[in-house]
Parts: sequence; structure tokens; C-alpha cells
Amino acid sequence: MIKNTVVGYPRIGEQRELKKALELFWNKEIDFNHLEEKAIELKQRHWNYQKNSGIDLISTNDFSYYDNVLDTSILLGAIPKRFKDLENEELYFAMARGNKNAVAMEMTKWFNTNYHYIVPELSIEDEYKLNSSKIRKEYQEAKQLGIKTKINLIGPLTYLSLAKRIDGKDCIELLNKIKPLYVELLKEISTYDDEVFVQIDEPIFATDKGTKLLSLLKNTYDDFCQISSSIKIIVTTYFDHSNEATKVLVHTPVYAIGLDFVSGIENLQSLELIEKSNKKLFAGVVNGRNIWKNDLKKTISLLNTISNFIKKDNIVISTSCSLLHVPYTLKYEEKLDFEIKSWLSFANEKLGEVSILSKIFFIKNLSDIDKKVIKLNKEINESRKHSNKIHDIITQDRIKNNFKFSRNESFEERIKVQKKLLQYPELTTTTIGSFPQTQEIRKARREYKNNLIDKSSYENKMKEYIDYSIKIQEEIGLDILVHGEPERNDMVEYFGEQLKGYGFSQNGWVQSYGSRCVKPPFIYGDISRPKAMTVTWLKYAQSKTSKVVKGMLTGPVTILNWSFVRDDKEKSEVASQIALAISDEIDDLQKNGIKIIQVDEAAFKEGYPLRDEKRVTYEKWALESFKLAVSSAEAKTQIHTHMCYSNFNDIIKTIESMDADVISIETARSGNKLLKIFAEVGYKQEVGPGVYDIHSPRIPSVEEIEKQIKLLLEVLPKKQLWINPDCGLKTRKWEEVIPSLKNMVIAVNKIRQEKR
Ligand code: GLN
Ligand code: ZN
Repeated sequence: MIKNTVVGYPRIGEQRELKKALELFWNKEIDFNHLEEKAIELKQRHWNYQKNSGIDLISTNDFSYYDNVLDTSILLGAIPKRFKDLENEELYFAMARGNKNAVAMEMTKWFNTNYHYIVPELSIEDEYKLNSSKIRKEYQEAKQLGIKTKINLIGPLTYLSLAKRIDGKDCIELLNKIKPLYVELLKEISTYDDEVFVQIDEPIFATDKGTKLLSLLKNTYDDFCQISSSIKIIVTTYFDHSNEATKVLVHTPVYAIGLDFVSGIENLQSLELIEKSNKKLFAGVVNGRNIWKNDLKKTISLLNTISNFIKKDNIVISTSCSLLHVPYTLKYEEKLDFEIKSWLSFANEKLGEVSILSKIFFIKNLSDIDKKVIKLNKEINESRKHSNKIHDIITQDRIKNNFKFSRNESFEERIKVQKKLLQYPELTTTTIGSFPQTQEIRKARREYKNNLIDKSSYENKMKEYIDYSIKIQEEIGLDILVHGEPERNDMVEYFGEQLKGYGFSQNGWVQSYGSRCVKPPFIYGDISRPKAMTVTWLKYAQSKTSKVVKGMLTGPVTILNWSFVRDDKEKSEVASQIALAISDEIDDLQKNGIKIIQVDEAAFKEGYPLRDEKRVTYEKWALESFKLAVSSAEAKTQIHTHMCYSNFNDIIKTIESMDADVISIETARSGNKLLKIFAEVGYKQEVGPGVYDIHSPRIPSVEEIEKQIKLLLEVLPKKQLWINPDCGLKTRKWEEVIPSLKNMVIAVNKIRQEKR
């Protein structure tokens, strides 16, 4: 009997083995056979881990060389024309990364996670054709090890919802073309064994977008279930509840429904219906998106609630989503504080949790070892609650007593004072903060971190860089300067490292896209700021010029959204704590002569919940924490914010209420189309729409930038506009940055001189 499973397992390797092999292959240092061998070795290792941890139903096809949505495009033969004469791995990696003749396919975030998938490009004219070899091979590879797996697929409705069509029309219209291929595939799969489990992921139904597709759901899955009685289909959703879809699925012959009870506790409302249909419930109760040790007692009580409705025999214990979103293992964490480490659980530790939960829940007589594990789990969860590492009375008191929600003066009052003090011209030129991260500064940071150079030589290197960037900006003729952020490896990590309550792993890599991994920091305790974080650098930069240098901070919402967050406090409260630290930093900066301060909120929008019903709550705390963060700014201190996207249509009112004096945004690729919303709502504050795209090495010409500025001027008046690139310049080279910014300044000067 199957008692437990996991939705999916990470594939990059606990030492990022796949990443390393891929990069060797791309550099032509190993051939494809070699890469394939490495992949097989990793897959086998991962299956065995799961098996040895006591997982009953293990997945195949959760492996991928780059991305599993891309794999699905290959499976369906959905190959954009520009790649048509390529084959096999050459085709696959060209689609992912481009080659000298064809640009890569677009990449975007997988729901509200930091995993990026390759966006399918579909066309009504394309002939789709099934290519099931990867699925078949992986199934056989596992079977040879004696493991009968479930085959993971991305469902057709989710696949189409995430795709784009080259004629811009709705991809769902292509269901008729895609569905027969799924049917053909399922037919083939039914021949693999007497009984084969197929997990079909349809997370689109955990979003509001799914409601439009409900009418297609029944038909699709009715048909899939008709193919063969040997196929057992588990339709799985995650990241929120999918109650509307469950209502439909209970009337289809699917074998099981997989639900997320961590991010979608509302799924409890569907239990009665599921029970009536006598289907299996794959209950996602172990968090696949966070890194905290499961509280077994709490989870068992959740499972008991579930079993008030559903017969135990019909329950399979699972993770809330694929473990792809957490790091592999705590095994290599040697530097973590012992107590803090005991609170954590990465993918492999979560396997153990799934297994022990199913023992507690299903088996009455537990072994002595199991009893010990349970006892220890209880002790650790208790001790975490009371640990003095978590509680900071001063922070807690400040949150309770000193809440200040906004700045004292209105925007109109502030801007008068600021314009008088700062004396900046119309169409003021500036940049978003970072300048090229050269080999040299990366090396200096690394060597300093590893104690290979001392503090003063490190600081000298940084100062040299700041000197250079100030000099360059003056030469170019920019109006408001920045220090260039050489001391920062990452806009969140830099602040996390200096805040109390933040932890860092050594090996906690999580796949972001392809071979790229990130190592998000984690918040375990109350946040406080032992000392100023940016003042020395900013003061130094300001001392080097008579122009105004803009200070650079990351906002509380972004710091929170790009970290693993403690699960014992509401996010809103954690965000307020970070906000307080940022507001102290702002105060220190303004007391030290910094007149403009930018508070970046790059991740503000991606934090939005998948469900509209949860938006209001998010918007409330996100907005409040931003406002709290900047509430210490005096009227004369100009507050900027920056967001790296352009489509503000649905959140413009929230953006307006953030009440930043100036906001810089990405618009270069859309002309002035996306700026229009600011005019439409009568936005009063100043706006810096990016005038050129920084994602490419191309140097924009003066004419091009001039044209872009003129487009912007059709929408907003000169006095409201700032002129800057789309985003930070850290990924570019100086050879690209200098001429681009020169052209930007020339373009502005030309327009300033024109009599209008
Ligand atoms: N100030 C940051 C930079 O320039 C902003 C980065 C971002 O928006 N992602 O790099
Ligand atoms: Zn940006």
C-alpha cells in the first residue's frame, strides 16, 4: 500500500553536480555522453535517497537538464521555427540559451516562486508530434533499480496557460492540437507496466486564472482516464488552494487529487466532496517551499482533521509541492550555529519527515528509534519557541509602541523643500545604483571574506572603485550620482549579513534557472540592526563630489520576499521589523549628509499572492512596511524607489500610496505604452521611466534615446520626469556603460535646449 510520496525532488545535485557538468558541456570540455552519464548517476542517487528514506512512491521525469516546461515543449514537439533544423541536445540547449543564429526562448518565473521556466512559443500553424523518449528512458532506468515510479507530467491546461502564441492569441485554443498528444503519451505509458501512476501537475488551478479553464478540465480528464485502466492519474495542484477545480475533478474518474495544505489550507473545504467520490487524497502537509523543521505534532493534528472526512486508507502523505524550491541537505552545513541548524530541514531531511509522519499516522506500533525521533522533534520545536536567539524584546517593543505609518509632510510640501535644496534641472539624469561588477572587485570581496586580505586593503579597493565611478559620472555629466555598489554581492544578502536575526547556509543552493542556483538567506529571529550598514560608503562617495550622491538601500518587502522567512511569525510582522531597521538606516544617512535615498523594491510585485482574495492582505502589509521604512525621512530628504518591471496597471494605486518622491521603472522596451497608466490615474510624484534596456550589451544611440524621451514627454510633463536606464548596471561592462550613459546625457541636453 502506498502511504506516502513527494511531489518532486530537486535535480541539480547536492554539490551542484549537474550545474558543473552542464557548464563543462557548454564549454565543450565534455561531450554529451559524458553529461548523460552524470545525469543518470544523479538520478539514481536521488531515487535511492528517496527509497532509503522510506518514500513509497518516487517520481521520474522530475529530472531535467534545464527546465521541465522546456522538456514538455520537446515532448510535444512544440519547437519554434527558428530552431527547426536542429536536433537532440543541440536543439534543446539552443531553445534554452540561444545560439549564434537564434535567440533563446523567453524565460519567466514559475508562479510566485523564484524558479524560472522557459515560456513555450506556440503557433497555430505548427504540427505537433510526440517525443516520449525521455519519459520512457527515465521510467526504465528507475525500474532497473527495482523502483516503480510515478511519472510526473505538466498538465496540458497549465502548459497552455503558461505558453505564449506568436500571433498573440489565447493559447488555450490550441488544446485540440495538444490533447491528442497527451492521449498518445498516456496510451504508451499504459504499456510500461500493469499499473502506472501518472502525476499530472495543474497548478494553474491554484490561481484565479484557472477558473476560466474549469469547463475544459472535466472533458480533458474524462478523456485521459478512458485510455486505460492500468493508468492511475493523480491531478496535483500547489502554491494555493484549488477548490474550484476539485469540485470538477471529483466528477471525473481520476485516481487521486493532490492538494497543498500548507499554502492552501482552504483545501480543507473540499474534503467532503473528495470523500464522497471515494478518491485518494495526496495530502501535501510537509512544506516544500520553506526550510523549517516540521512540527510533527501539529502536522499529525492536521492529518487527523483531514481523516475526520477522508478514510485513512484513502490518504497519502505528501509534500506541499516539489522539493525543487528548497536546498538539498543540511549535511554540509558546518558553520551554522548548532541550535539554529537543529531548527532547519532541507529536501533530504523533509523526506525523513514525510516518512515518519506516515509511520505515526498509519502504524500504531512504532520502533524505539522512531519514538526517539518524535521525542527529539518535540523538544526542538519547543526549544525554538523559547530560544533567546529568536526573541529581541527591544524590537518587539518598538513594533508595539512606536509605529509611525508615514512621513510627516505631504508630497506637495516635501517636493517644494527638496527642489529648493537640491536644485535639480528638468529631466534630471541619474542611474539605478550599481555599476559594473568587475573581476577586480569580486576578487577583493571574495578574498576579504576568506581572510586572504585585511580590512584596509579591502576598503581601499572599494574606495578606488568608488573614486573611479564618481569621476566617470562627473565626466559623463550625470546630475545625480551613485556610489556604484561595489561592496555588495547581492542586494538582499548584503543587508541580511548585517542584520541580526538573519542566517546563511554554506551549501543551501536552490535552482533558479538552468544551471543557475541561488542561496537565499533565511530569517530565523527578530530583526535588528546592530550598526549602520551603508553610511561609511555613502559618506565617502559624497565626500568625493560636489554633486548629490544618491544613497542606496533595499526595501523591506524585497528583503523579505527573497529570503526564507520564519514560520512562527506573520510575514507582516517580520516585514515591519525589517522596515524599522531600514528606517534607522535612512535616518543615519540623512544625518550624515545624504540628501537622496533610493529604497529598491525589485520584488514588490512578485510577492503578490496567486489568489485575488489574498491580495488585500498582502498589499496592506507590503505598503505599510515600505511606508514605515521611509517614515524617518525628513521632508528635505528625497526618497526614491525602483521596481524592475513595467506593467503597473493593476497595482498603480498601491504604488501611488507608497508615496515615494520619485520612482524609477523599466519601460524602455515598451515605448511609452506602460507609462500611460501613471498619467491616467493622475499620479503626482516624479517618475524615472528607463530610457534604454540594460539587459543587452548594445549601446543605444543618442537618436534612439531622444526618441524614447520624446515618447515619454507625450505622456508626462518635463518637470515630473527623471531620465535613467531601466535598471542597475552591474551585469554590464564599463565599455558598454560609459558610451550608453554619455548618449543618454547628450540626448537629454538636446531636448533641454529645444524650445517647447
Ligand atoms: N540598486 C540596484 C542596482 O542597481 C537595483 C537592482 C534591481 O533593481 N534589481 O543594482
Ligand atoms: Zn531593476
